[in-house]
Amino acid sequence: MKSQKVFSLTTPIYYANAKPHIGHAYTTVVADVMARWQKQKGRETFLLTGTDEHGAKIAQKAEELGKTPQELVNEISGQFKQLWNELDIDYQSFIRTTDKKHIVVVQKVLEKLYEQGLIYKGEYKGLYCFGCEQFKKETELVDGKCPDHGVAPEFVREESYMLRLSDKQDELLQKIESDELRIRPKRFRREILSFLEKEKLEDLSISRKNVEWGIPLPFDKSQTVYVWFDAFLSYLTGLGWQGGNLEGEVSNLWPLDLNLIGKDILRVHATIWPIMLMHLGLELPKQIFVHGHILSEGKKMSKSVGNVIAIDEMLKEFGAEGTCYLLLSAGTIGEDIDLTMERMMEKYNADLANGLGNLLSRVVTLARNFQFPISEVELEKGEIIFTEDFEGLMDSLQFDRALKKIWRIVQDSNKLIEETKPWELAKNDRGKFEKVMRELALHLHKTAELLKTFLPETARRIKKQLKTGERGILFEKIKTN
Ligand SMILES: [Zn+2]
Repeated sequence: MKSQKVFSLTTPIYYANAKPHIGHAYTTVVADVMARWQKQKGRETFLLTGTDEHGAKIAQKAEELGKTPQELVNEISGQFKQLWNELDIDYQSFIRTTDKKHIVVVQKVLEKLYEQGLIYKGEYKGLYCFGCEQFKKETELVDGKCPDHGVAPEFVREESYMLRLSDKQDELLQKIESDELRIRPKRFRREILSFLEKEKLEDLSISRKNVEWGIPLPFDKSQTVYVWFDAFLSYLTGLGWQGGNLEGEVSNLWPLDLNLIGKDILRVHATIWPIMLMHLGLELPKQIFVHGHILSEGKKMSKSVGNVIAIDEMLKEFGAEGTCYLLLSAGTIGEDIDLTMERMMEKYNADLANGLGNLLSRVVTLARNFQFPISEVELEKGEIIFTEDFEGLMDSLQFDRALKKIWRIVQDSNKLIEETKPWELAKNDRGKFEKVMRELALHLHKTAELLKTFLPETARRIKKQLKTGERGILFEKIKTN
């Protein structure tokens, strides 16, 4: 009996050559909120994340640090797990591409595709960016350099095994055009479609001769598999796939409902990855959703510019839920967002400490001072909290707009207090006082319900204070200069 399809989603499997940064946190927080939203709608969910641990870049970094590659990736994948704990990320699987179970499947897949002639022996000649671990075309370079790394790729020529891509181009194009593989936001779909219409996909070199830190090809042990080929399969092995028939292995998890990525890895995700799946006879992910970069002061964060915002620093200042709120409210997922510590502190104070925190404390205090039975106010059973509009925003990952809607209720409530002055009403017009208080309490209940997806702990604390009438500080105000 086939059980109901679980809503499955994945973050990128992060490259383990350095400790996690704010960009990793952002994607993972987005995934976590989406999983929680689906759960709230009654779906069972499965969130996958993990670390991509092979390749020349990792071997090089380990050598610099006087460590073995294994020691380095153990350390770094541990740092990722630690960060997900601090951010309260509720993931169901953390795959590491050095896991035995993963390696076994990668070799199985290589063997299978080799036998089918979908992988063949050839020669690779061309440009390779070690920063991206990607082969580059002249047309992708800016002034002869990789646009993401600012370095000129190296010319590489060596015997290599090739994966057939070219004969699948039309089928891929059709699947993206028909939205069988949805790429969102739409401008990224257009970008890929125009690439596939203009350029001819070339077969891809999927093995390297001189990279020892990788999975050996089962049919030629002198070569290791290209790190992206390895990493893509972790989206399957991370769900528990063992390389056989999907039925009975991961049939209720596959295809992925949401494959969340950053825009710098769109090209490989919209070409190599789906074609690998087609070769394997597997369904494509239902949706690839692409987010933008996180900038600071309008520039890419970098040590030399000195504009790096460390995720540890954010967590220390704002806590897990404050950090989640600030990342998601900073802009639309899909566009670049721009952060500065100063602006985030202001926003934290304005929205969380003053906006929401003050509202709750004012309402609870008024109830206490003027004997309003606040614990008796409850939302009506069956009342619709999630409007169609709100659901639409959540389903399409427009989290910033959904949050704005919630904060609209908070602002309106604070305004209601200022306009009606309940502390005066309590003395002059008890009937009206109670009416206003009931409305305010209902607004807070509603806010808590809506916030459950984003800030579950905050929502729980709001409800608790409304239930008990006890006061407590929701968000401590931050002192700014
Ligand atoms: Zn590069």
